Amino acid sequence: MRLKVRTYTGGPFQENGYLALCEATGKGIVIDPGAWAARLANDIRDEGLEIDAIVLTHAHLDHVEGIPAIREVTDAPIHLHPLDRPLYDRAGEQARAFGLPFEGPLPVPEKTLAHAQIFRFGEVELRVREAPGHAPGHVILVCPEAGIAFVGDVVFMRSIGRTDLPGGNFQELMQSIREEVLTLPDETRLLTGHGPETTVEQERLGNPFLAPNYRGGFA
Ligand SMILES: [Zn+2]
Ligand SMILES: [Zn+2]
Repeated sequence: MRLKVRTYTGGPFQENGYLALCEATGKGIVIDPGAWAARLANDIRDEGLEIDAIVLTHAHLDHVEGIPAIREVTDAPIHLHPLDRPLYDRAGEQARAFGLPFEGPLPVPEKTLAHAQIFRFGEVELRVREAPGHAPGHVILVCPEAGIAFVGDVVFMRSIGRTDLPGGNFQELMQSIREEVLTLPDETRLLTGHGPETTVEQERLGNPFLAPNYRGGFA
């Protein structure tokens, strides 16, 4: 398996971000750098890691606030779906809404993500799937070879992403879960933006938001 993943967690939202590495080439990408990003920046520097990209599942503050720390050690381009660019550009307002300090502005994203795009680093391939609802430009990143999906805040162990923030939409979120998450193989590991990892099968069978039909039907 070429994809190796390290999880980093921290900050008031206990956000999970990821360092995804290609074992064959040593190249890596940073996914959703949050409040913990200085730790990852140290690892990048100490280990001489070659970072190809900073990839954002969506642009909520807790998933982007670590970008400046990462950019101190790499000039890897930032990849974001265009529909989340307005949120990204208002990171300072998001911080104020939560009463959190924030030193902006963030660097401008150089690259865009789109549905069905194949994103490559080293010998690893990630497939981009649009999954709006929690945020308008939310994407998930699927590595079929490794059986891993980075799902951001779409679905969590026994829970789902909130839809009460600006741009959120409950019906869209449910459709995204049904069409983009539950269609993945049952054993796919779901690496989430908050909380422990889970699998497609565990959530199909045990997630109360996806009950009562217990085969991925919705209340
Ligand atoms: Zn979010
Ligand atoms: Zn989040």
